[in-house]
Amino acid sequence: MPLHLRSAWNRTLFRLATLLLIAAVVGWLVGAFWPVLALGALGVVAWQFWHLRVVLRRLTARERLKPPRGDGVWNELDRLLHRGQADMRTRKRRLLSMLRAYRAAAAALPDAVVVIDRDTQRVLWFNKAATVLLGLRHPVDLGAPVGERLQPLPMSHWLSGGRNAEPMLDAVSPANAALRLNIRLIPYSDQYWLLVARDVSKLLRLEEMRRDFVANVSHELRTPLTVVHGYLDMLDTDEVPEWKPILEEMQKQSNRMTQLVEDLLTLSRLEVQDSLPHENIGMASMMSTLRREAEALSQRRQTIVMEDCGDIDLWGSNKELHSAFSNLVSNAVRYTPVGGTITIALAREGQGAVLSVRDTGYGIPESHLPRITERFYRVSTSRSRESGGTGLGLSIVKHVLNLHQARLEIDSAVGQGSTFSVHFGPERVHPREGAFPLQESQTA
Ligand code: ADP
Repeated sequence: MPLHLRSAWNRTLFRLATLLLIAAVVGWLVGAFWPVLALGALGVVAWQFWHLRVVLRRLTARERLKPPRGDGVWNELDRLLHRGQADMRTRKRRLLSMLRAYRAAAAALPDAVVVIDRDTQRVLWFNKAATVLLGLRHPVDLGAPVGERLQPLPMSHWLSGGRNAEPMLDAVSPANAALRLNIRLIPYSDQYWLLVARDVSKLLRLEEMRRDFVANVSHELRTPLTVVHGYLDMLDTDEVPEWKPILEEMQKQSNRMTQLVEDLLTLSRLEVQDSLPHENIGMASMMSTLRREAEALSQRRQTIVMEDCGDIDLWGSNKELHSAFSNLVSNAVRYTPVGGTITIALAREGQGAVLSVRDTGYGIPESHLPRITERFYRVSTSRSRESGGTGLGLSIVKHVLNLHQARLEIDSAVGQGSTFSVHFGPERVHPREGAFPLQESQTA
């Protein structure tokens, strides 16, 4: 027990004892010892109860306690209660100022922030940016159903996804049709969700400008390149034999540039496309075209193996899928040394299908795999240049596959080879007309 509390107890007990002693002396003097002592004891008990009543009344009335005076145990209790109350007030003030600071920070955010009640899907709070970007008005929209207020955005359907709701990309703002938003749902507690909307109009405009710029530059380069290419072809090296190697190198580089421009134009075209034609792709003829191309490119330096399950065709764009597959085949030939084997296989995969191009070539170190489909990303620049690559092939493949909702999987081991597999969903697969359900395997 702390010292001051012990001395408060001592003082109080001393006072009580003195009071009882006085009562005993008075009782003895008046000749009624016991009745007067009992009266004194009763007075002491009544005094204690009165104090207890006072404390309880103060606590229940939640009134602000006055700083206590005196030095008894009751005053000590008052002092403790007063101190607790003062501490509580300080803590409350601190919490309130923290809450105000958080609200001010959220209110000042450039992104729209809306707090939603998960059960009722109603708006509980929103910041200033939510007024500009989402058109929510203070205070009328507090408590309003979020789906109704943010029409025509498909909120109800989207909110039903909860934690798994994919961000809404490039959504048109309900407040201003010129604004494009990225909207995310953050379920930060069991009861509340946070909806965050970011204005991406400027970013999209920049991206559009970048796309237009690349497309325009590539387009403008096409004509001068065709002219240079044409004149180079007309030059007769027999007249000046010492120019032969120079002219050959010029022709090679001009071919490379033409291919680069064509690839850039293909990428630009694919980037702006939302969907592609839904054609029947005869995989028998696609496989034989791929085989012919591989053989032409390989010039018997590698062995080409075809494996076709023989009973499925695909839905999609003939031209674009052919370009994607032949990019994979051309890579396999270019990055496989002489004597290697390239296997092009089409197989069923559950209800879907998989087309894979397997080689026994140089392989790709694992650290490069995550970035391999980026434009101009190369594992070895010199090897890629030597092999006549533009660095855009796998980018084109990725775009074409995205437009077919297909997935590219790369499996590779350095020095052993790589497998590029294209996985198609069931909606892209249909039975081949007049197919024999036989496993057909051809070896070149
Ligand atoms: P490139 O025109 O340079 O071949 P791609 O986009 O087609 O460009 O390929 C990107 C890089 O991926 C290549 O430079 C090469 O390093 C690597 N690569 C692609 N396919 C293969 C493969 N089958 N084997 C080994 N490396 C490959």
